[in-house]
Amino acid sequence: MTRPFVLDPLFQSTKAVPGVGPRMMKLFEKVAGARIVDLFWLLPSGLIDRRYAPKIAQAAAGQIATLTVTVDEHVPPKRPSLPYRVRCHDETGVVDLIFFNVKGDYLANQLPPGEQRIVSGRLEMYNYILQIPHPDVIAPLHERESVETVEPVYPLTAGLSHKISLKIMRGALTRIPELDEWSDAAFIKQQKWPRWHEALKQAHNPQSEDDLSPHHPARERLAYDELLANQLTIALMRLQEKKHKGRILSGDEALTQKALAALPFELTASQKLAIEEIKNDMHQPTRMLRLLQGDVGSGKTAVGFMALVHAIGSGGQGVIMAPTELLARQHEINISKYASRARLNVVTLTGRDKGKSREKLLASIASGEAHIVIGTHALFQEDVIFKDLALVIIDEQHRFGVHQRLQLSDKGEYCDVLVMTATPIPRTLTLTVYGDMDVSRLTEKPAGRQPIDTRLISNERIEEVIEGLRRKIETKARIYWVCPLVEESEKLDLAAAEERYGLMKQRFGERVGLLHGRMKPHDKDLVMAAFSSGELDILVSTTVIEVGVDVPQATVMVIEHAERFGLAQLHQLRGRIGRGSEKSVCILLYNPKCGETAKKRLTTIRDTEDGFIIAEEDLKLRGEGEVLGTKQSGLPDFRLVSPEFHSALIKIAFDDARLILDRDPHLLSSRGTALRTLLYLFERDTAIKYLRSG
Ligand code: ADP
Ligand code: MG
Repeated sequence: MTRPFVLDPLFQSTKAVPGVGPRMMKLFEKVAGARIVDLFWLLPSGLIDRRYAPKIAQAAAGQIATLTVTVDEHVPPKRPSLPYRVRCHDETGVVDLIFFNVKGDYLANQLPPGEQRIVSGRLEMYNYILQIPHPDVIAPLHERESVETVEPVYPLTAGLSHKISLKIMRGALTRIPELDEWSDAAFIKQQKWPRWHEALKQAHNPQSEDDLSPHHPARERLAYDELLANQLTIALMRLQEKKHKGRILSGDEALTQKALAALPFELTASQKLAIEEIKNDMHQPTRMLRLLQGDVGSGKTAVGFMALVHAIGSGGQGVIMAPTELLARQHEINISKYASRARLNVVTLTGRDKGKSREKLLASIASGEAHIVIGTHALFQEDVIFKDLALVIIDEQHRFGVHQRLQLSDKGEYCDVLVMTATPIPRTLTLTVYGDMDVSRLTEKPAGRQPIDTRLISNERIEEVIEGLRRKIETKARIYWVCPLVEESEKLDLAAAEERYGLMKQRFGERVGLLHGRMKPHDKDLVMAAFSSGELDILVSTTVIEVGVDVPQATVMVIEHAERFGLAQLHQLRGRIGRGSEKSVCILLYNPKCGETAKKRLTTIRDTEDGFIIAEEDLKLRGEGEVLGTKQSGLPDFRLVSPEFHSALIKIAFDDARLILDRDPHLLSSRGTALRTLLYLFERDTAIKYLRSG
């Protein structure tokens, strides 16, 4: 099955739109994407009303107005720094059109003296004369009707002007196809929503501020379509996962007790509860599909370990899959500690293992000698064969997709699945990421943890902060220095980190290390080990440390240009300290000139450590000014849904998707065909793949 032909034009490059060359294409890629459908999803962020068309004498300065004028004379500037003026009039008064940096005879052609023109732009009063600096529109009289309208304003970027973006968007939007209705007719009617193509046209053609509201029927409809595609995808995956029956894993109480005794601490109440819930699921004849949600440092690993022990006690093997090499090694260190005391064998397999050593690992996995396997994507490879895989734990930190979960759990017959995530997703949004997965939450921090003292300090005081580190080092503190995100570009991040590293070395000598994403895994490990063992006092790093590094002795974190980070990311970063029993300090260096939203983020992070509160706040502050690293927040990358406004639609889409698949699990009816188109429209290709194999 392939994409319906009717959608093909949508997935063409934007180059197919008149006026889009390589340069425009790049600019549009920045604001929307490289394909025509990306332009469809780029909804207006504002509007310009050009319907105000007064006589000059009545025209009010400050307004956008469309005037009908006769051109009188051109007054070129006496000096280049002065503007070029074109004096015009109507029967009630005069107006000057003002231009800076005029080149060639463009204006003479556009505004020939003696002729009438429609001009539109913002009116200003200057020396008692009404003027329009750089009119947006200069047009002949017969175009009046098309000028005196409301223009949508699209998100812009340097080099992309409103005028050009409008022209290109209008060109792209002529290609909106009419698609068969995929939603239930009665439901659409009840919601008073337009058809899809109508909705898209309306959303791009706002007539008033109200039309820009996320609650406008057109925008709601579009958001709903996206949510439906999202929920259908999740529901299809779920059907696929449920195709495999589960099996009863009863565990081995003696082994469980031994493992508990091997843990170097007493479990918290919520860890105990989570373990009970997990064991209970594993005991059922159905497959476990559970999410373990817990803030950074809440102790998910120990819970995962006890689940592994339960699987092993039932005669099976377990695997923990981590998103990065670094995190896999971290798990290895922790899990091995627990496991060796319980006499369980742990092996770690990552992309780094090659040749003979890899073969040895594979053999121990295949023979069942390895009870617990820790690894990265390398585990997906076909020659990784388990003797009897009973439990898959995915420590995902949002870097895996659902299909990867399937790919791994297909390696075992009937195996149970536990997904661990450190990103607390607001309750309303859990459905969009995990569907109706069962959830266990770790709500308390392990005993003995002290709250982190978080301080906001202006960038200007960076010297004081650096000097302050000396005192910290004297008390044997270990320090993370996190370098600013420059752009969403690793290269620039790296340059900043290297520069800071150089400066810190000048100050503090050899006991400073550098960690960044471009280092070879082995080198990263060496640096981490040195920091962990205390050979290094200061670790200068890019945001790579965010992903699951555990050095309990690290008690100080300085984040440079904290205002550039998203809330979720700051929260994740800060979670690297406050992991031991010593008091920790997090210093957020920020630019005091940063915007209101950035300030709100900083005070939020200062005032709370509760991941769920931070997640809710993150959701509220989203959309208000762009944040680098929003991907980390773990929310799905919606194009048309604004989670903060459309959350009420989520549950409806969830129920809708279930009902649809109950009736037509393979989407074969005529509505099913339309729904397949919807899935293609939102590029849920994996969902369609499972549909085919189902
Ligand atoms: P997470 O994966 O949830 O971020 P970890 O499982 O890495 O957290 O645990 C963080 C730290 O807390 C580890 O050093 C771990 O040994 C410790 N820890 C876990 N559970 C407890 C507990 N109940 N009491 C004390 N320390 C704990
Ligand atoms: Mg962890």
